[in-house]
Amino acid sequence: MYDAVLLGVLLAAIAIGFGLGVHYASRRRQHTHDSRSPDLSREYFVGLNYLLNEQPDEAINTFVNALDINSDTVETHIALGKLFRARGEADKAVSIHQNLLARPALSTSTNEHVQLELARDFMALGVHDRAQRMLRALLDKSVNEIYRQEAKRLLIDLLEREKDWQEALDVAQSLLKQQPAMCRPAAHWLCELAQEEIHQASRALARKHLKRALQLDERCVRATLLLADLEMDNGHYTRAIERLNHIPQQDVAHIPTMLPALKHAYERNNDTQGFETHLYQLLGQAPYTSIIIALGEHVHQRDGVDSAIERTGEWLREAPSLGGLDYLIDLYHESQRLSGKNPPDTRLLLLKHHTNALLEGKPRHRCRRCGFASDGLAWQCPSCRRWGTIKPITGVDGE
Ligand SMILES: [Zn+2]
Repeated sequence: MYDAVLLGVLLAAIAIGFGLGVHYASRRRQHTHDSRSPDLSREYFVGLNYLLNEQPDEAINTFVNALDINSDTVETHIALGKLFRARGEADKAVSIHQNLLARPALSTSTNEHVQLELARDFMALGVHDRAQRMLRALLDKSVNEIYRQEAKRLLIDLLEREKDWQEALDVAQSLLKQQPAMCRPAAHWLCELAQEEIHQASRALARKHLKRALQLDERCVRATLLLADLEMDNGHYTRAIERLNHIPQQDVAHIPTMLPALKHAYERNNDTQGFETHLYQLLGQAPYTSIIIALGEHVHQRDGVDSAIERTGEWLREAPSLGGLDYLIDLYHESQRLSGKNPPDTRLLLLKHHTNALLEGKPRHRCRRCGFASDGLAWQCPSCRRWGTIKPITGVDGE
């Protein structure tokens, strides 16, 4: 796609540059006898030749060198800088943009536009401190509201990359009311801060951050999970269960995420009956494999393996899944072992081999936004960088 854009921009550059070349050449012919004019148009033909020979780098260099900087061509220079950055050559973009900024004749608005582009170049190069200085200066001084907003957006992005959560919150503060979409990332920054506080044993401060996170985004599952963890750290298991009970309303897809914490809380409360009741309630909300397996385990321990086979079979008839089948085969194995069947049934071994092979290497989580798949749960997608979009995979081959 870049090649098509590149070609378009280059053709525009040729048109503008060549037009100017002819214009200046004719003016110069009228007033002076400037020897540069034939060189200028010659460079365009050299550039064009490179382009036709499919040597875009040489073509760009020739055009950049030949293009005069004035109010008519400055946009072309900015566009070329963007192209270099998109091609992974941000260093070349920096020299084009710095070259532009060195011209005293630029209008204030154009100057700010170029500074914004230069900040983007530095971000692309990983020179974050310089990018940050430029963006903060634009945020303080910019006369153009569009550039100010863009500088703010880029600065937030940068602070997020630097994991400077408090700074990101401070900069985003004024946006939270106008842009509800900002509330979800901000809630996650507060969760990040809370985790830092938990790490430093400042639980009271962590709790404050988490409550603020839930004020910003009432559907923030992560904040609820962390609050439940804090309750359990203090030995308040019933309160932890009350917290976890909110999660299916916040996001039903995160039931598999909360199950280990729920199980732990009920175990510490010595309330296996309560856990079973809670699991049945969850099964009514979403018949996920992880709930079926947890219930199957529960029945297995209380009533024995044959009851577990019977009940698990019933639940799986309603909501069949590969993981559930794999678990059912394990139960059959156990049943045969207990009845003294030796050696084990080879047909069961074969089935187990197949379910194992199908489940092996399957990702357990996926980003609902970009499709990025991973085994563990990341709260920020490493691919599209959205917050809270990675969720457990459920359904036939899921959790
Ligand atoms: Zn993603």
